[in-house]
Amino acid sequence: MASEKEISAPQPTARRKFFRTLASVSTGAVAAAVGWKVMNPATVEAAVIPPPLAESSGSLTVRMQQELEATVAGGKTPSWLMVVDTRKCIGCDACTVACRAENSTGPAGNFRRVIKKDLPIGPRPWAIYKPANCLQCDDPPCARAVPKDMIAKRPDGIVEFDADKLKGAVARAAAQACPFGAIHVDDGKTFTQGTPQAQAYEQRAFVENGKTYARKPGANPLQEVARKCTFCSHLLDVSVLPACVTTCVGGAMYFGDANNPASLINEVTQGRRVFRGHRNLGVKPRVIYFEESMPDTPHVECGACHF
Ligand code: SF4
Ligand code: SF4
Repeated sequence: MASEKEISAPQPTARRKFFRTLASVSTGAVAAAVGWKVMNPATVEAAVIPPPLAESSGSLTVRMQQELEATVAGGKTPSWLMVVDTRKCIGCDACTVACRAENSTGPAGNFRRVIKKDLPIGPRPWAIYKPANCLQCDDPPCARAVPKDMIAKRPDGIVEFDADKLKGAVARAAAQACPFGAIHVDDGKTFTQGTPQAQAYEQRAFVENGKTYARKPGANPLQEVARKCTFCSHLLDVSVLPACVTTCVGGAMYFGDANNPASLINEVTQGRRVFRGHRNLGVKPRVIYFEESMPDTPHVECGACHF
């Protein structure tokens, strides 16, 4: 399993100072000025970068799909884990579009977004892209904010909402409680609402948390319901990988069963530095991020921006 580095949360005022300072002085001067770890790749990365990943041995997506099929066919309860390699994410948002289409999220919100952060460090412009969706927390703050029977953990780790109950005020309470902004409340609208012709792609049937819905202009059964990423549980249950994973053009997304010691997800995280958000809240997220920079780029601790 992944090793994990301890993150100490910086204070918000210190973070603002950090980025203001970055804009005007060199990396070394920043590190000296604010005392944060902006590492020199020549001295640090050589020690921590593991051997290259196994991309050359074939399609990782095919391997993840085969592992998923074997897991479902084997009948054992998996423990789903998603790993993101932000070094490979190019910020194209193909995953966001695929997610919107798969889950019929409508105009009110996304299950998934790709956050871009400019990091003016070193000799050339540099940015990091961070795909973000519900982290399927093992101790979810959203569940603590609403009555017990509205949000449940599936045995495979996925956090499941009850759409019949998580509506209106409680839906908004859950959305407010999520520290990751991963929940939105559906407004029941379609993108093509008010245009001469409603489009069929927006009105197709889709499955969410075991139930089938269809979004119609002005008559969406999920109106006022709290919605978020489900790891595409409706696909996983029929041995298909989540839409963001199969769509990722950068190969930045890994998904699999943490209970399977031979799985790709365990292989790629073995011995690596990974980051889990909001450790200070003890949420135990199931979406984790590699915390390693590319060779010849400055290294910035994920904790510089994220708690
Ligand atoms: S990321 Fe937010 S919505 Fe998802 S389980 Fe955690 S608290 Fe709930
Ligand atoms: S599809 Fe992949 S590369 Fe493109 S934004 Fe999403 S995670 Fe990044």
